[in-house]
Amino acid sequence: MECSEKNRMKHKPTAREKLAAQEQKERMYCKARGRCYHCGKPVSLAGCHLAHRVPAHLKYIKKYGRAVIYHEDNMDITCPDCNYLSLLDPASCPVEAAELVEQIEIKLGRRRD
Ligand SMILES: [Zn+2]
Repeated sequence: MECSEKNRMKHKPTAREKLAAQEQKERMYCKARGRCYHCGKPVSLAGCHLAHRVPAHLKYIKKYGRAVIYHEDNMDITCPDCNYLSLLDPASCPVEAAELVEQIEIKLGRRRD
């Protein structure tokens, strides 16, 4: 039915995925030494943002895959004020976004050469 079709489109994170996301945030927070990537202000683990560079929009997840979009290199630890500074939208910065995606794909071992 229409309803179940809609549900299939939307991905609900499982408990395991939520835990993995939390662990990733903690790891990145630790690497960033608890500071905002952009302004360097100290941020709390609860208060910091995990800002996506290539946005986690469905169209980009479909295009590049979850492994790229949720890769650590596609995310910065930021304070709430600087979240928007991480944005690297392929629609407005196609070259830079393509370079970033390529680097992540190499790390993921997806590129053959
Ligand atoms: Zn900041």
